[in-house]
This record gives sequence, structure tokens and C-alpha cells, in this order.
Amino acid sequence: MSSATAAARGVLYIVSAPSGAGKSSLVNALIKRLSFVFLSISHTTRPMRPGETQGEHYHFVTSRVFEQMAEQGDFLEYARVFDNHYGTSRSYVERELDKGHDVILEIDWQGARQVRAQMPEAQSIFILPPSLEALQERLEKRAQDSADVIARRMRDARSEMSHYDEYNYLVINDDFYKALDDLCSIFIAQRMRTPMQQRLRGDLLDGLV
Ligand code: GDP
Ligand code: ADP
Ligand code: 5GP
Repeated sequence: MSSATAAARGVLYIVSAPSGAGKSSLVNALIKRLSFVFLSISHTTRPMRPGETQGEHYHFVTSRVFEQMAEQGDFLEYARVFDNHYGTSRSYVERELDKGHDVILEIDWQGARQVRAQMPEAQSIFILPPSLEALQERLEKRAQDSADVIARRMRDARSEMSHYDEYNYLVINDDFYKALDDLCSIFIAQRMRTPMQQRLRGDLLDGLV
């Protein structure tokens, strides 16, 4: 492996949004479109929602297990969001980046700051709803949280959104498929960078130059 090839790790992406902006829907659709992108499944102490499965949406763990993992340094970042703890597995992220895969972290702004401090090359994307009314409607339509939880998330949305300018890219999720195209274009452009093309298309390049 040449040095250019060895340097071509996958790109780490941080995706944040206020709850209900469409982050998970967009990221899941993006992963179906782009085979080189992998989603990091966070650990959380939040109770499982109806329809969620262990290990698919989150690794659901007790507060005790979460604390142990944090003490052992298993998390690349972790934070308290609303009333629960969320953390990103360090080993999963490193392993996938080494394989040349891109990895998405769906994390809040506090986690984003921790990741940027350790991995300044990470690319960060903030997803915004077209309006506060649309955000509220989406939280209600999702019908997965109680009225209390929705009210709490609406209150927190403004403070989460106030961090948008710490991110490299902004995507407004008004029309879903337009937002999906916008999001995909960010990933595809990074993939076309010369060191990654050298890793992916080494045989072709060797034959050409
Ligand atoms: P959602 O807002 O409806 O997607 O609800 P979730 O329970 O999936 O996420 C709640 C919050 O926790 C969001 O702000 C996420 O970005 C954040 N979050 C999820 N996973 C992680 C993580 O591993 N680390 C950090 N720091 N935040 C996370
Ligand atoms: P988040 O992960 O940011 O909390 P979700 O992906 O769960 O958000 O989306 C919240 C709700 O809004 C879901 O019911 C989803 O189907 C809906 N939704 C997402 N994007 C759009 C959009 N562009 N227009 C209308 N509804 C949307
Ligand atoms: P929910 O409980 O609705 O699934 O997620 C609430 C918030 O927690 C979302 O904004 C999500 O981005 C954030 N979140 C989920 N996983 C993590 C994580 O591992 N780390 C951090 N910092 N935030 C997370």
C-alpha cells in the first residue's frame, strides 16, 4: 500500500439536528443510496420506543453499564441529552474508517464539539426544519413520544439550533427528496477527493500514469 493509499481513511461525518427535523429519516435513506457509508449505533440509557430494536436503533444499556464504559474510555464522545445519556463507540468508528468506509455519527452539538476536538478532519452537517411549526407537526406525527416529551423537545430545539454555525454544512429539510439529494452531494464530493480515488481506483491509475 502506498503512503497515499494508507492515508485515505474514510471520512467521519457528524450529523446534528433538533429532534424531529428528519435526521434519522434522511440518514437512513442516504445509507440505502450510498453503499460506502456506515452508521454508528450509539449507546443510550433512554428507554426503547415502540418499534425500536436493540442494536439496530441503539445499544440500549443501563446507567451502570454506561458509566463503566465511560470510565474505561470506550466512548469517542458522550453527553447527556434531555434526561438520558448517549455515547459513541470509539472502536466501531476507528475500525470502519480504517476500512475506508465513511461513518456517520447522529449526535448532539455537545458530542459534536468533543469529536471535532479529537478529530478535526471530521465533517459536520446540521439539518434544520423549514419552520418551528413544521418541527412540532413532525414530532406529533411521529407519534412516538408523549405530549410532555414533545413539549420538552420543542423547548430544547431552539437551543440545539442555535449551534448551527459551528457546522461545515447546513441542509434544510423542507422537501424530503431535495434535502436527501443535498445531503448525498456532500458525501459524494468528499469521496471524489484524490487520495480516496487513489485508494479506490489504484489499478486504473497505475495503468494510466
Ligand atoms: P431524535 O432526536 O428523535 O433522533 O431522538 P434520539 O433519542 O435518537 O436522539 C436524542 C439526542 O441524542 C439527539 O440530539 C442526538 O443527536 C443525540 N445523540 C444520539 N446519539 C448520540 C451519541 O452517541 N452521542 C451524543 N453525544 N449524542 C447523541
Ligand atoms: P429526527 O431523527 O431528527 O428526530 P425523524 O427522522 O424521526 O427526525 O423525523 C421526524 C418525523 O418527521 C418523522 O415522522 C418523519 O417521517 C417526518 N419527516 C421527516 N422529513 C420530513 C419532511 N421533509 N417532510 C415531512 N415530514 C418529514
Ligand atoms: P432520541 O432519544 O430521540 O433517539 O435522541 C435524542 C437526541 O440524542 C438526538 O438529538 C440525537 O442526535 C442525540 N444522540 C443520539 N445518540 C447520541 C450519541 O451517541 N451522542 C450524543 N452526544 N448525542 C446522541
